Amino acid sequence: MKINEKEILFEMKSEFFDFVSRQDDYKNFVQSYEDYAKVVCRLLMPTSVSVHHYINRVGYFEGIKIINSSIYSKELIRIDNEQHFPIQFIQSEKYIIYKSSLQKTIYLWSHDEEGLSLVELDFSGKEELMDQFSSEFLLNFHEVTFNFKNVSTRALRTIEQGKQYFELSKITSKLHSSFEIEYVLEEIISSLRTVYPNFNYQLLFTNQTIEPSHLPIAQFSPMDKDANPYIIKAYSENIITFEKTNNSTNMYIPIQGQQGVYGVLKVESDKAVEYLKWEEEFFNILATKAGTALENAKLYKQIEESAKRTQFVNEISQNLNQNLNILDVVNCLVDHFKETFQCEEIALILLHDNEPYEVLKGSTSYFFEEDAKLFIHHIIKSTIDHDGTLLKVNACSEEAFQSFPFNSILAVKIETKGLAGIVIMLHRDICKFTYQDRTLVQNVMEPTKLALRNTILQDRLEQLVATDHLTNLFSRAYLEEQILKSIQEDQKGTLILLDIDDFKKVNDQYGHQIGDDVLVQVSNIIKRVVRSTDVAARWGGEELAAYLPRIGVEDGKRVAIRIIEEVEKISKPKVTTSCGVSSWNKTDHKDASLNVLFKNADDALYEAKENGKNRVMVSF
Ligand code: GH3
Ligand code: MG
Ligand code: MG
Repeated sequence: MKINEKEILFEMKSEFFDFVSRQDDYKNFVQSYEDYAKVVCRLLMPTSVSVHHYINRVGYFEGIKIINSSIYSKELIRIDNEQHFPIQFIQSEKYIIYKSSLQKTIYLWSHDEEGLSLVELDFSGKEELMDQFSSEFLLNFHEVTFNFKNVSTRALRTIEQGKQYFELSKITSKLHSSFEIEYVLEEIISSLRTVYPNFNYQLLFTNQTIEPSHLPIAQFSPMDKDANPYIIKAYSENIITFEKTNNSTNMYIPIQGQQGVYGVLKVESDKAVEYLKWEEEFFNILATKAGTALENAKLYKQIEESAKRTQFVNEISQNLNQNLNILDVVNCLVDHFKETFQCEEIALILLHDNEPYEVLKGSTSYFFEEDAKLFIHHIIKSTIDHDGTLLKVNACSEEAFQSFPFNSILAVKIETKGLAGIVIMLHRDICKFTYQDRTLVQNVMEPTKLALRNTILQDRLEQLVATDHLTNLFSRAYLEEQILKSIQEDQKGTLILLDIDDFKKVNDQYGHQIGDDVLVQVSNIIKRVVRSTDVAARWGGEELAAYLPRIGVEDGKRVAIRIIEEVEKISKPKVTTSCGVSSWNKTDHKDASLNVLFKNADDALYEAKENGKNRVMVSF
């Protein structure tokens, strides 16, 4: 190498070192090319120096040309592809001295991950200068040039990345302070647009996710067979995918959190481009931030919901622990459910074996309408067929439900020993209930069903075995229950109806107090005369009854006669009584029924009164 070549190289290195050490002043690549080209103009004296740099992202060469004259003039150049140049820039080579009739040029180039970088030294009119460089010099010049290029690129990139990381850290702190999903998405889109304004962005979410309308958000369904396969792949395999066409390149980045992928970020370029590794990384980090923020927002919502749910369950169980009757329990559930689920109609329905269902009082009015019967029947059937829950959000589109006015149906079966029931909520609008609502109903009913069962059983029990205060006889309801049971289990049975004769007169003569006492006396006589397995009951007012299971009509009549004889003998003040007796027997081949049995006994009693009272009449 000639001495002056060494000096040139030395001076270049020191100039470039100076540039790199002042890198903070650099605003962009073009400026660093300009600095470089001016130094080269001064030291090598070409006619002009051009620097080109292929940018994958935009898909063309960006560059600058400095014309070497007393005043430098510069020109920004954009070259679409390598075909523009007269030679091919082979990767294994470094420079070429190109001479044609039109052109005297030294080309120096280098390939790196971003593509081709090229320096064009134009010596037209100065051919003699071009020939003087030794190949050793040109190789050294190549090295110094591309070292400078690499160092300054790295420096600029560091600055640019620094800006991105600043943007990222800004967004991270914002996202951590917000649990509003919409706000999170807004911030992400605005950061993307700040850092890379040339791309278009879209957030793609699967169906369940929210949709703030002013943001570039779209939905996709992973199940949809027509869905874009690049989106599906990014979403389901959690990898970045690229969709390239002749004039566009879309990058799809999964929006992932700790617990899963929530959607896909689409970065859209209206040119066919290659995205750089570090651009990809930026989008990826941002998408992950989005995923985490979304997840946090969702978790927060879940916690909020579960707190609400706990409160809801607590409130209900507190209410139910206050020894309420069934109506109170149903009212309590209906009120809470209406408020929480915003349903239009709600019912608690009991399911009985071999019997029609029973809508509990306190349910809303629709369920007691005639038209609702078939609807309820369908719902019960579907619920039982679907493992005990039913959720419809567009029921009117289905044949079984289309003739009813409710689109949203939520039903949950409740089952525990001694209780089978179903909660049904209805709304006319579509999509009123969600899977979460269903779970909430299940959660609420789980502890509640025991309270409900106990209340119902207690109520039934009270109704059935309640003994009458005054007489200590069984209630009429219990009597009826026992007769029904006997009709099913026994061969025969007899019913005695008893009415105190001229009881009004007793009351009138002795007063109500004594009247009551007489009633108790007669009741005690009946209890004494009948067996412990018989059922002595207060039928109503001063009418009493006794049912004698497995006793035929003749024996029954004898019992009745004993009763009226005893009453006449013992009562004080003395009263007499009249009895009507009726019975049933399987051998009669008539269907025994409670109503017929009562009617017959009542008719017989009427006859006894008609025939002079203090007597027993039997219905045959
Ligand atoms: P009859 O022979 O036709 O039965 O004449 P009666 O006066 O008994 O007439 P009825 O059975 O129609 O009247 C029933 C009366 O019994 C009316 C009511 O004042 C009286 N009564 C009903 N329940 C009670 C009760 O719990 N205590 C008292 N003291 N009186 C009652
Ligand atoms: Mg009477
Ligand atoms: Mg009477």
